[in-house]
Amino acid sequence: MPSVVRTSGLRRRAQALGESLLEAVYPRRCALCHTSIAGDDAPLCPACREAVEAASRHPACPRCGMTLAPFAGPACVTCAQRTFPFDSVVRVGAYTGGLRALLTAFKFGGHEELDVYFAERLARVIMRLEVYEEIDALVAVPTCWQHRLRRSFHPAAVLARLAARRCRIPLAPLLVRRGGPHQVGLSLTARQANVRGRFHLARGCAVPGARLLLVDDVMTTGATAGECTRVLRRAGADAVHVAVVGRAGDDPVTLRHV
Ligand SMILES: [Zn+2]
Ligand SMILES: [Zn+2]
Repeated sequence: MPSVVRTSGLRRRAQALGESLLEAVYPRRCALCHTSIAGDDAPLCPACREAVEAASRHPACPRCGMTLAPFAGPACVTCAQRTFPFDSVVRVGAYTGGLRALLTAFKFGGHEELDVYFAERLARVIMRLEVYEEIDALVAVPTCWQHRLRRSFHPAAVLARLAARRCRIPLAPLLVRRGGPHQVGLSLTARQANVRGRFHLARGCAVPGARLLLVDDVMTTGATAGECTRVLRRAGADAVHVAVVGRAGDDPVTLRHV
């Protein structure tokens, strides 16, 4: 109907005018270096975008998610002797450099508006998975109630919800986490001990034969994803894949500080 078209056109122009006025008063700024940027560049200036995307440039091992060495085969030699509870790992990039700085700004720096940027990138890598068509549901790595009480923002839950919508895969709140010390700064062995028995299946849930994709913001040692996978497998899941934004551990400095 012409009147509706005219109204929505007017609304769009008013919105664009409002946005440009707002930008004149409060120019958009790059989420990393804070220089003013054009609206189309948001949330990063071209230089910072390049720094963030550099972390995604190298192929990753499908078993552990670590960056593959140049001229390596399809999987890395470092994990060849290891077995993982999950079936595969896919990541947006290595948790280093610009990607690490941006994820830190998202998780701890009040830049929660980066949720769309990260979710879109995560959705892109999920949709490239060979098993994409087979995934029944996305499952966010849950946080404990003490954490939720302290802070309403839970990055993994936000990313899983937005990525699920983009990938058109249902989001299933299958896991619950009991409280306890945080994983930050712990070694692989300590992390494994720290998460053991920490997760359980949400009441009334059953997953026989399900093919699931576990979503988290960062994978460090894989202990958390491994424990979540064990719970889902014990509940009958046929396959559990993992998708994260950042995979830590590509350099010793990264491992020491997360
Ligand atoms: Zn910048
Ligand atoms: Zn590997």
